[in-house]
Amino acid sequence: MLSITNPANGSVIAELPEDTHESVHAKFLAARRAQPAWAAAPLATRLATIRRFRDGIVAHLERLAAVLTSEVGKPIRQSRNELNGLLGRIDFFLAETERTLAPRAVFDEGGMVETIEQVPLGVVANISAWNYPYFVGANVFVPALAAGNAVLYKPSEYATLTGLEIGNLLHASGVPQDVFAVLVGGGRVGIELLKEPVDGVFFTGSYPTGKRIAEAVAGRLTKVQLELGGKDPTYVCEDVDVAAAAASLADGAMYNTGQSCCSVERIYVHERIHDAFVEAFVQEVQGFKVGEPADETTYIGPLTRSQQVKVLQMQVADAAAKGAKLLAGGHVLDRPGGHWFAPTVLVDVNHDMAVMREESFGPIIGIQKVGGDEEAVRRMNDTEYGLTAGVYTRDEARARRLLAQVNAGSVYWNCCDRVSPRLPWSGVRHSGLGVTLSTEGIASFTRPKAWHLRSA
Ligand code: NAD
Repeated sequence: MLSITNPANGSVIAELPEDTHESVHAKFLAARRAQPAWAAAPLATRLATIRRFRDGIVAHLERLAAVLTSEVGKPIRQSRNELNGLLGRIDFFLAETERTLAPRAVFDEGGMVETIEQVPLGVVANISAWNYPYFVGANVFVPALAAGNAVLYKPSEYATLTGLEIGNLLHASGVPQDVFAVLVGGGRVGIELLKEPVDGVFFTGSYPTGKRIAEAVAGRLTKVQLELGGKDPTYVCEDVDVAAAAASLADGAMYNTGQSCCSVERIYVHERIHDAFVEAFVQEVQGFKVGEPADETTYIGPLTRSQQVKVLQMQVADAAAKGAKLLAGGHVLDRPGGHWFAPTVLVDVNHDMAVMREESFGPIIGIQKVGGDEEAVRRMNDTEYGLTAGVYTRDEARARRLLAQVNAGSVYWNCCDRVSPRLPWSGVRHSGLGVTLSTEGIASFTRPKAWHLRSA
């Protein structure tokens, strides 16, 4: 049985039977049988089910937000924000799928016609994370279903109730039961799923798990996409409005209790404004309301996973032992049964410290003083990750010059912790492989089939 607990207080919300080797295999076989008819249905029929799914999200938004908050600990207003943000992503897929997947004639001469058709991959596995379960799940299952695939969806064991809600809503919207199946369980069920001969593996989660998954399926030469973690840096130049930059970056570091793949994880500040920036940043962080996730005024909630408390404690202790100064937080909050960590700001940090090198995934930030642009770029690129990176400056040309030198999937000028459905979402190095979102993230769920047609 899988126990679903509330991370704010440790109370058990539900006990659910987990999928087994046999049930995973049965769901795979059923999906394999059901997929051709789903792919053969007109695209308009598949898009209509996605539109009804969107309507279902709107109709049940308050209840879905409450479920998400109860099992993940996401502050309730941020749960609503995620659901409302999902609507925009669905609208993008509804608007762009037909044009993106339309067959294209690329040559027509002397009786020879060449066309490209985008055909669905078949049955795909979607193994997902808990921190934004609607966003990261839908980045895969919405375009995958629209393109004509069957989806075996394994939500994170920390967002299982949300995963089951998604399944119910899709089925109520007209997606056949066997075309979208939810698998309940943790890593063991993920391993079982990967034993099945699926036609694509779409994973969102940590680098260590992503690597394990890529290795597990490597021999089969199956398409694999990995959306992984980051150690996302931002450089604050000396010409900024210090208070505005500090407010924006404190939110970028701590929103969702710092548990976003694109949370700001490292800040480099020009030496000329370093002290003023740090003062304004700490003031912002001290203004954040830590509290019960169901409370409307809460901004910082519990950590979703108990084991992350140890990671943050270790990063604080390591930094302190190597000379960092703690300006806020740095300790566990005593709230019975839950996993809570005070919003934490460290300065006088450097790259010998884990807090500047390893993903923190919590409400903690290291702020490092730099001498200028060249040092900032060098430090931003000194990482195994490459998901996002940002520069705050009034000077657009300077921002463009610096961001061009940064090796990351997404770059930000005067903004951070931002995802757009219109732009490709991808990481380099340990941040991932492949693309979701944008029209490329629709085509990801198809393969191009080449037609050579001679009329005579
Ligand atoms: P995780 O790697 O612990 O788990 C992710 C999923 O993999 C879960 O569903 C889990 O049950 C499953 N899993 C675990 N072991 C497995 C195995 N051996 N085989 C198959 N499946 C297995 O990650 P998490 O804690 O759920 O998510 C947090 C991580 O995800 C962070 O690193 C974060 O940065 C990253 N993330 C990345 C993005 C992105 O778009 N790049 C988005 C959200 C989260």
